[in-house]
Amino acid sequence: MISSADADAVVIGAGFFGCHVALRLRRLGMGRVIVVDREAGLLRRASYVNQARVHNGYHYPRSLGTAVRSRRNFVRFCTDHPFAIADGFEKIYAIARQSHVSPSQFVAFCGEIGAPCRESPSHLRRLFDTDLIESAFLTREVAFDAVALADDLLARLQAAGVELRLGTSARLEAADAAGATVRLGGAAVRARYLFNCTYAALDDVGIRLRNVLKKELTEIALIEPAPVFAHIGVTVMDGPFFSTMPFPARGCHSLSHVRYTPHAAWIDTADALTRTTPHVGAMLRDGARYMPSLARARPLGSLFDIKVVLLSTEQDDARPILFEPSAESARVISILGGKIDNIYDVLDVLEGHDWS
Ligand SMILES: Cc1cc2nc3c(=O)[nH]c(=O)nc-3n(C[C@H](O)[C@H](O)[C@H](O)COP(=O)(O)OP(=O)(O)OC[C@H]3O[C@@H](n4cnc5c(N)ncnc54)[C@H](O)[C@@H]3O)c2cc1C
Repeated sequence: MISSADADAVVIGAGFFGCHVALRLRRLGMGRVIVVDREAGLLRRASYVNQARVHNGYHYPRSLGTAVRSRRNFVRFCTDHPFAIADGFEKIYAIARQSHVSPSQFVAFCGEIGAPCRESPSHLRRLFDTDLIESAFLTREVAFDAVALADDLLARLQAAGVELRLGTSARLEAADAAGATVRLGGAAVRARYLFNCTYAALDDVGIRLRNVLKKELTEIALIEPAPVFAHIGVTVMDGPFFSTMPFPARGCHSLSHVRYTPHAAWIDTADALTRTTPHVGAMLRDGARYMPSLARARPLGSLFDIKVVLLSTEQDDARPILFEPSAESARVISILGGKIDNIYDVLDVLEGHDWS
């Protein structure tokens, strides 16, 4: 049965993207906006299970466009979310001797995108094994607190009169030129627009995508760092190395490793892997070769979730947004942001659209 209480928009997914999309739609004049999530709260999936890095371009020497956009969005993100930013640490980008990027190339790249980068002082250089690490640079990068973001978004959604349906699964039933019928738990709701902001489930809510997604089951390890790097974050570039930095939501450090964070990858959902055993031991052992004090870190457990990237961006690590109206209806739109600060690219697209 179709509910008589039709909505202007239903947003599936109360992650960082779905919440912001809903707020922007209200600001753009939509009346009744419903956000639905199968979790019991906001930002419980990828928006929480990630490395909490506010990207500032450094990660993307192979995609200048992504690096430049990251730099611009970094400033916007920090300005808009001062309450959720942890910046009381020194962030080092270390270049391994077997890196795909040389120290001089990294410095030139930072110069090109205007990102701060200078030789690390000796007390920071001493943290590394110089047989394996060629150079270490002091940079500017911060971490975000996903719990603070969730608390802020909940208050803003309530103030904006957005309806929240938590603990409710959603699925597209039918779409046509005028909108979509969505099943929200036991009820069917008719909406003028449907936004699919489900990240790992983007191709699993009844909406056919033209873009191909690659998914990875990923592990972010949580560690209590040795006191010597309690106020330091490190990313070793560029190859099968690691990154550790503050994880503000838990008051500890996160640790990821290019080789050990991904447990499995698939394109066809039939190949999906959901259960696995943690790799934190391997991450710490390998990381300690480059940074010996990692051997004294205490594992606190691991977070697992599915990471999604557009298959077309695999080679250059680019992180463009996906904003894809479905083939069935231009009013059914799937949105994917490869990183948190991409929200500004999504909001810019929403602003430029006619939603009448
Ligand atoms: C391992 C890892 C590390 C990362 N590191 C970083 C980083 O350091 N910095 C950075 O900027 N980005 C990072 N990212 C990317 C970042 O996490 C994502 O870009 C971002 O969180 C996506 O937000 P979202 O709102 O689209 O997804 P999510 O937060 O996953 O929200 C999607 C929501 O949809 C809900 N949902 C799904 N299906 C349904 C359904 N049928 N019905 C109802 N609800 C449904 C889910 O429950 C979920 O809450 C990382 C990602 C991973 C996985």
